[in-house]
Amino acid sequence: MADNMKGLKRTHYCGEVEGIGSEVTVGGYVQKARDLGNLIFIDLRDRTGIVQLAFDDSTDRDIFEKASSCRSEFVLMAKGTVRERESKNADIKTGNIEIFVTDLRILAKAQTPPFEIVDNSNTNEELRLKYRYLDLRRRPLQQNIIMRSKIAKTARDYFYENGFIEIETPMMIKSTPEGARDYLVPSRVHPGSFYALPQSPQIYKQLLMIAGYDRYIQLARCFRDEDLRADRQPEFTQIDLEMSFVDTEDIMQMAEGFVRRLFKDVLDKDIPTPLPRMTYTEAMERYGSDKPDTRFGMEITDLTDTVKNCGFGVFTSAIENGGTVRCITAKNAAGTFTRKEIDKLTEYVKGIGVKGLAYIRWVDDAPGCSFGKFLGEGELEAILEKAGAEKGDVVFIIADKKNTALTSLGALRLKTAKQLDIIPEGMFNFLWITEFPFFEWNEETQHWDAMHHPFTMPMDECLQYLDTAPEKVFAKAYDLVLNGTELSSGSIRITDYELQQKMFESLGLTDEEIQAKFGFLVDAYKYGAAPHGGMGIGLDRLAMIMCGADSLRDVTAFPKVQNASELMSDCPAKVDDESLDILGIKVVKTEE
Ligand code: ASP
Repeated sequence: MADNMKGLKRTHYCGEVEGIGSEVTVGGYVQKARDLGNLIFIDLRDRTGIVQLAFDDSTDRDIFEKASSCRSEFVLMAKGTVRERESKNADIKTGNIEIFVTDLRILAKAQTPPFEIVDNSNTNEELRLKYRYLDLRRRPLQQNIIMRSKIAKTARDYFYENGFIEIETPMMIKSTPEGARDYLVPSRVHPGSFYALPQSPQIYKQLLMIAGYDRYIQLARCFRDEDLRADRQPEFTQIDLEMSFVDTEDIMQMAEGFVRRLFKDVLDKDIPTPLPRMTYTEAMERYGSDKPDTRFGMEITDLTDTVKNCGFGVFTSAIENGGTVRCITAKNAAGTFTRKEIDKLTEYVKGIGVKGLAYIRWVDDAPGCSFGKFLGEGELEAILEKAGAEKGDVVFIIADKKNTALTSLGALRLKTAKQLDIIPEGMFNFLWITEFPFFEWNEETQHWDAMHHPFTMPMDECLQYLDTAPEKVFAKAYDLVLNGTELSSGSIRITDYELQQKMFESLGLTDEEIQAKFGFLVDAYKYGAAPHGGMGIGLDRLAMIMCGADSLRDVTAFPKVQNASELMSDCPAKVDDESLDILGIKVVKTEE
């Protein structure tokens, strides 16, 4: 039987013990126990750090015996006197002292854990996720989770101080228009009908503005059934906000104030504001991405004019067919990108939809060029000059449709920069992306889709093109990007219900579809709405970057893995037939 805590009350967290000569009581987990015969040392750990418990010849024999039975991860409570340590440890805060124990309780014994609870665990992640409650005992994860909590607190503090009201919106709703697939919840009461889990509280926060709440904030759980990546989880948290009587500038300033406050409070870093801005079009032209990582250069160069009359048919025919020829120049990269490596990169870009990758690899005096034999006199030199290439560099060239060439070079830029290890650490490069196209052509459905969501307000000067030239319509939408990660997206909303109706029509929605999907929202706008807009800031991504983590899993207490399952509880899981019967559901296809 385990001991109990009777008569003891914790006075200090382990990492905060101080005051030589004072009597303290601590509780924690055994990190390490060293039995040296007549001396025993136990490192006791809690979420604040470690303190050393000491037992020696003068320790009561029962307590000494008990101490010698302690193993890793046993849960103890110990009372004793703080004294100076003989061999000091400068690496930990309590490294100068130890507790000479006068009362010891073993509150719980522990089986040997499947992996050691140490900072740098090299145990594979799958096993750690299966025993997540043990993994979460590790200090780096605890620090991340604690930092995440500080971020949430600062968000609440800042927005509350600025007059925002926190309002919870429902989890079981009709469906949201964020463009991902919904997670569905079957209704027992209405067999065959389903709720959707919110992809975001978008519609509800707009309704709250219509209802006059003026400034809303929520740390909102959002659910999107998408393919997962390191920076995507099926459920995540947004610092979701909406404001009335505002235009773009007001919202951006409010967000900048938050960023400044957050980085000061949590990381003691000064972020200069206003944050830099770039239009969507410029970001695509220069970086091939609407979330460019501006911590390094390697910008895209337009070679179209330089090569339009050259001898290489791949280039000229791409241009004749309305395409473009663009390149990036990787500086001092010829050593890293051998022919073999370039072959791999070629496969990579083919995987994302381009036909091929041309290159110039300048190792020796004469640059090696994958298409050199087709070029006429002076043509290679002209390309090198335009690309800003010098000896030691590699130029990667893609000839394709404009969008394809830009986005694939954008992806290649990131991939090669990682391989070259040229992305500086410890930098926080914020960037607003503005003036997003309103519409996005969907090749599959041959339809214009809304790039943001259909409630986004077009820029005033673009309203005239709504019917005639959708590609010329830009939106009052803004994304906040940090180190190449999309941190937040937002927009001013359409508050004029006639215009909203028109936008739905431009998106090809019929009256019936509009009514079925958003009828209540369209109706609500008929009762008067102040101009409003807002944004959703990804709390998880923010935490990931602020903690210097590589994956959202490192800042999420109980994350899901790539295939959207949770390894600890083994969900999603099958349910019994009876539960399905009640819901009127029959599973017709299962993946065994
Ligand atoms: N609902 C949007 C999103 O989740 C954010 C916004 O427009 O406020 O991206």
